[in-house]
Amino acid sequence: MAINRYTCETCRATNVPVRFFRNTESFETVSLQSFAELVQCPECHALWAWVAYEPYATVHGGALWPYDAQTYDALYQWDGGSAVGIWTDAMIALYWQEMPAKSRDFVSWWRERTYRNYNPIDQARRVDKRELEARVRNLEKTVFKMLQDQER
Ligand SMILES: [Zn+2]
Repeated sequence: MAINRYTCETCRATNVPVRFFRNTESFETVSLQSFAELVQCPECHALWAWVAYEPYATVHGGALWPYDAQTYDALYQWDGGSAVGIWTDAMIALYWQEMPAKSRDFVSWWRERTYRNYNPIDQARRVDKRELEARVRNLEKTVFKMLQDQER
């Protein structure tokens, strides 16, 4: 599934499908899970799914959510957030280098702070790019499975 490439000034000025969130940002919470959240940009209404990472769940890294809020909620109910977590990790590992310099500086700090281990970028260092892309695509398969399951 293609990811929509927003050019919104508020949330997507740089056309990258991953980002990190600060508490001061004005995104609206659409779905609140433990250690994860779906938020919406007030300007373009794009949905962003973030996961709370180490240290102490203080780093909120996320990706542009390709479905609606109902699908996000249903997936969390269905598998406890497993598919969203794997997808977010893979998205960050695949696309973090496309973020602006300031965000990449933050990522450098984050990787050091997590001992170049407890973050999705270093966890994926020995993982093939094709495998990461397969993990991203797995979200679509999981949503499909969930919908089939719900129809039963
Ligand atoms: Zn936006």
